[in-house]
Amino acid sequence: MMRTNISPAPKRPSGTDMAAALKDRAWIELDRNSLRENVRSLKSLLPPGCELMPIVKANAYGHGAVLISKELNRLGIRSFCTATVSEGIELRRGGIKGEILILGYTHPEQFPMLEKYGLIQSVIDLSYARLLNSYGRKIRVHIKIDTGMHRLGERAERTEAIRDIFRLDHLVIKGIFTHLCADETNAEPDRGYTLKQVHAFFDVLTDLKKHGCGFGKVHLLASYGLINYPEYAEDYVRIGIALYGVLSSRTDMEKCPVRLSPVLSVKARVAVIKDLYAGEAAGYGLQYVAQSDRKIAVLSIGYADGIPRALSCGNGQVLIHGTAAPVVGRICMDQMLADITDIPDVKSGDIAVIIGKSGQKEITAYDLAEESGTITNEVLSRLGGRLNRILC
Ligand SMILES: *Cc1c(COP(=O)(O)O)cnc(C)c1O
Repeated sequence: MMRTNISPAPKRPSGTDMAAALKDRAWIELDRNSLRENVRSLKSLLPPGCELMPIVKANAYGHGAVLISKELNRLGIRSFCTATVSEGIELRRGGIKGEILILGYTHPEQFPMLEKYGLIQSVIDLSYARLLNSYGRKIRVHIKIDTGMHRLGERAERTEAIRDIFRLDHLVIKGIFTHLCADETNAEPDRGYTLKQVHAFFDVLTDLKKHGCGFGKVHLLASYGLINYPEYAEDYVRIGIALYGVLSSRTDMEKCPVRLSPVLSVKARVAVIKDLYAGEAAGYGLQYVAQSDRKIAVLSIGYADGIPRALSCGNGQVLIHGTAAPVVGRICMDQMLADITDIPDVKSGDIAVIIGKSGQKEITAYDLAEESGTITNEVLSRLGGRLNRILC
């Protein structure tokens, strides 16, 4: 018989130890003060009576939906949006209070969940409204109007169809909204298109008022709408990316009228240091060959954690001990390599910063977005479920 050597289980961590235990491999740190300041800055753009309705879809743009929403609850925020029912359920199970609006399509199979978890469904056109009504129980809804994005929503010019939605017995209409698709600037041709959308939406509201249809809360702006067209804020602003302290691109942020600071940092442990001799390759596909003797740090994070694989082979860098180290070789699913030849005293267990500050240096979501040919929204929202999330 073989004897198994069972080591004692580690003590269950508590309090501050818990945060330390979460920093085991790769993790996200959320800066509570930045989130609070962003809320304060964005609120300063709102007209009286208007509230922020944070968008916490896609795990709060990768930040961690429950952690972020809990903190927002503490700041007095009572209305949230998610894309899906399961995201709404996750918030409720995490103890989030207030209204949760589902922005996307919900399959009839899931209608009981809307009721059970007290979620508000978006009505995405008249036929969907009828389907939802046929469920036969009271469901709270916001009606989505398509004013030109041509994605979800009943078409603004179909005023009769929109009024028909108000005749459906089981729909409890709590709000009405539209979504702008050219609000990133307030210059032409975006401005003209945006104003056309806004006017089409207000025409719908006028028609509904004329026919005595009570539509409840009104909202049409997202982050860029608030920055470029704050005069249309109405009851809620569906604030997404800006709340997290970034905009889609660096140049947009340079034009932003309020100060926003990034909420999220991404960090990973150095697993091992590898001495590489001149001429040796590292990683898959022999994509990196050392031109001279090099020191390589193997980091415990990879593309399955949301690090864009496009940062491979020198396109990206990480920060270790406040110094930039280029990414070498191909990024793997769970690991990546960085050249630390010029950084003294790096050892296993040290921290590499993928997004965030280290000493005087900083790598931003803009850097990753530019290096991988996309926008910050995509970089952030793809950060993986395997990363622990810690509110600091
Ligand atoms: C994602 C989304 C938003 C938030 O957009 P941001 O640009 O991130 O502020 C608002 N409204 C709808 C309908 C959305 O899908």
